[in-house]
Amino acid sequence: MNILFAAAECAPLAKVGGLGDVVGSLPKALLSLGADARIILPRYKNIPLDTASQISVMDIRLGQEIFEVKVYQDLLPGSEVKLYLLDEPVLFGSAGVYENSDASPAGQAEAKKFLLYCFCVIKFIKQQIWQPDLLHCHDWHTAVLPLLVKKNELHISTLLTIHNLAMQGQVPVSLLDDLKINIDAPTSDHANLLNLGVAYADAISTVSPTYAQEILTKEFGEGLEFDLQKHSPVHGILNGIDEQIWNETRDPLITNDYSQFSAELKMDDKISLQRSLNLQVDPEIPMIGVVSRLTAQKGFNLLEPIWPKLKNLNFQMVVLGVGEKKIGDFFKDICQKNPGRFAIQEKFDERLAHQIYAASDLFLMPSKFEPCGLGQMIAMHYGSLPIVRATGGLKDSVVDLADDGNNHETATGFVFDGFDSNLLLGQIKRALEIYQNDQVTWHRLVHNAMTADFSWAMSAQKYKELYQQIINQKLWKA
Ligand code: ADP
Repeated sequence: MNILFAAAECAPLAKVGGLGDVVGSLPKALLSLGADARIILPRYKNIPLDTASQISVMDIRLGQEIFEVKVYQDLLPGSEVKLYLLDEPVLFGSAGVYENSDASPAGQAEAKKFLLYCFCVIKFIKQQIWQPDLLHCHDWHTAVLPLLVKKNELHISTLLTIHNLAMQGQVPVSLLDDLKINIDAPTSDHANLLNLGVAYADAISTVSPTYAQEILTKEFGEGLEFDLQKHSPVHGILNGIDEQIWNETRDPLITNDYSQFSAELKMDDKISLQRSLNLQVDPEIPMIGVVSRLTAQKGFNLLEPIWPKLKNLNFQMVVLGVGEKKIGDFFKDICQKNPGRFAIQEKFDERLAHQIYAASDLFLMPSKFEPCGLGQMIAMHYGSLPIVRATGGLKDSVVDLADDGNNHETATGFVFDGFDSNLLLGQIKRALEIYQNDQVTWHRLVHNAMTADFSWAMSAQKYKELYQQIINQKLWKA
């Protein structure tokens, strides 16, 4: 089975959020299951070409412009997965993946960049001897591909995976007209790229079973609920994490390795982080970690009304994130007023992310909606218990400690239901209380979290089965 992944991100080469993690790890898991999974990616400026070899040059027409695109072949670092890089300095040569640091679609120029990318993918497929049976498209950046596959009469199945329905990529229809893509009966002067994918893909999936249900409703459907209902079922497959990268027993980015049998060694990582961020050095104080894009989706605005009560509790907090100014300013303000207890680093920093997962005791992710969420899974793997809202993949991956504590043998964190500040406050208080006064329960939860299976093994098998089902359906229809 040949699968080609088309996406804007791919860790470790180009990562802004969970999309990068998934595209950088699922193909490896598929390869180990016997599928020939490959990746095609724009070559952003920071992606090195030293080990890559050029395999072709393509001229791609986009409206009135012609772009010369060089195709390089390489291997995804640390793997045998074949990687194709599309090198074109004008549109793909930016330093970052997106214009906006929080990954929200930026407008016409960015839409044009990803349209060019999709055109390149189609031409690449036409040129190659190796042919994918299925093109696996991810999010709005590649959502026009299923339509292009049909227009070009390629005999390839398509799967569109939605990692975040809130980002849809609106482009002026005139841009698509220029590109000779005719959309049937456009309803406005803007076309919705993600919705084109929903309409034309052979199948649609998303990254957790709960989010697959949620997006069919008005509350989570972001205006596409009826289109998604029309094309349902939306398959929901929970993401895994790459245990080559996220491995607390041998992580070159943290101070001290540890395991489920020596979780107490996390303290050394905490002390080390406290020192490097100028926090008060105290191995006993509970530390809450945040590693996240700072957007309204992530729910940090719930902290503001309860902050006067929260700030007097005994804990430290470390925040790593970039995104909306308002959210960054809130965290900066509390850090300035409480030096030694709270710290924020407004940047993207892979090393510091690893250090926070390793150092923290609790991990905060009170999302308003969360398609899957990897932060909470990585945190659990590193023995940091998540405090999350019961939505999307958070609901599917964290087991709440029951009020009476009778599920302590399976619980892995603290979960609240409604998007409500006081419910969040209640869970933070409960978590701190257990940390301070019930070490037996605490250690049991840490053990449960660290031994929970978030590997790709099971989910990659589900993807493989889904691919086969889509490919068979196409053969059957033909
Ligand atoms: P989303 O995809 O919505 O951003 P996820 O929880 O699915 O959220 O994935 C976020 C990924 O990005 C995780 O691997 C997390 O560690 C990483 N990440 C987020 N912000 C940063 C940052 N500022 N620096 C380093 N890594 C980050």
